[in-house]
Amino acid sequence: MSNPSKPNTERLLKQSHTNMPMGVADSYRYWGEDNTVFVKSSEGCTITDADDQTFVDFRLAYGPIILGYRDTRIDQAVVEAITTRGTISGFSTDLDSEVVELIKEMCPNIEKLRFANSGTEAVLGAVRTARGFTGRNKIVVVEGGFHGLYDEMMWKSDVDNWDNKSGKAPEIASFGVGIPEASREHLETVPLNSFEAIDEVFARVGNDIAAIVIEPILGNCGSIASSQEYLQKLRDMCNANGTLLIMDEVKTGFRVGKGGAQALYGIHADLTTYAKAMGNGYPVAAFGGRADVMDVISFGVKGVTHGGTYTANMVALSAAKATLTVLNETDALDTINKAGADIQQVLSRVFTKHGITHKFAGPDSMFGIHFGDVVPTNYRDWKATDSELYTEFAMNLIKYGIMLEPDSREPWFICESHRHVDLAWLEDTADKALAEAIV
Ligand code: PLP
Repeated sequence: MSNPSKPNTERLLKQSHTNMPMGVADSYRYWGEDNTVFVKSSEGCTITDADDQTFVDFRLAYGPIILGYRDTRIDQAVVEAITTRGTISGFSTDLDSEVVELIKEMCPNIEKLRFANSGTEAVLGAVRTARGFTGRNKIVVVEGGFHGLYDEMMWKSDVDNWDNKSGKAPEIASFGVGIPEASREHLETVPLNSFEAIDEVFARVGNDIAAIVIEPILGNCGSIASSQEYLQKLRDMCNANGTLLIMDEVKTGFRVGKGGAQALYGIHADLTTYAKAMGNGYPVAAFGGRADVMDVISFGVKGVTHGGTYTANMVALSAAKATLTVLNETDALDTINKAGADIQQVLSRVFTKHGITHKFAGPDSMFGIHFGDVVPTNYRDWKATDSELYTEFAMNLIKYGIMLEPDSREPWFICESHRHVDLAWLEDTADKALAEAIV
């Protein structure tokens, strides 16, 4: 590290290199020797690094923070629960059903649900359940979506190394070594919003498709949204072919609205996965949906296996209960949407001032910014946006105290506490950051 203003960060990274691969606990936290961040504390919509620089945070740990860091409404409920009841017992508690009932109230298409500890685990559970119910193997995923770190989901459309003028589709590549080729045997990949691609895959292997797995709004690709017609097409194709529609709402659930993306579209999945916003940063996840599908979860050779030592622990469920109650009973989500709209307005003014054509994508609570003339409709279109300029702009924002992922595929996440952001400061800072990026 060669940043003299960050001596504590430099020391921590040096020490970490002797303890962990890449010097970090999660590979995505390594931003190079000069930019890796160590966080000392957080509050509201801000984080403070090891060298006492405070950032207004629009990354929000990739989305879980929906109210704000260290929200006392949530933290006190968790402390109360674990100090009076303990953290786990390996048995059921009254909270299990209480939280499910809250989710059912907010998301009326959920009839039965199971908990998990991470988005990865929730997706794995939903996919296994869909396969168990249908007796089929194949799953269809959408390019630019991300569904967690288990082997089968570790294949991606390799748009980074794709020549978008070649007229050919991007290659499907693994996320790295250690992922067996066999894990892609049952995977089919389609570009978002392409009717042609979905017709083609159903014509070819329709009888063996257990499920389509889709982020209805691509939270891992600049918040590019499914069109209403496309999502309806998926629903219709699933109905006609005995396939289940799984909506991965790990990022959108309880964020883009009480009922997630499905409520915005008015189109329901058979199974849905949740995580992130449902616990305001506490590790909790879930999958659920149609009762007849979920009831395939049971013991025996005809049942789908699901469980886990830490499933539905007291920390997770007390956090979920408190967070969902706030989101359900207060106007927090309206506040978040308003803050997101105001912030986009400010940024738009700055981009226009500097002559940068730009488009926002997705809902106000998690919007993508794309430098270019049109809103991308899928991951392949995203390649035509000026993502390099975006990264330079983002790195300058970080330098001046605005934290975000320097990759335009990651949306700007808004939490309730962003209502306190000084918009004039944001405008000045964005202005400075963009001016430096375009010289
Ligand atoms: N699904 C989606 C849509 C995600 O964005 C993510 C993570 O970002 C996952 C699943 C995996 O979640 P986790 O990191 O909690 O395993």
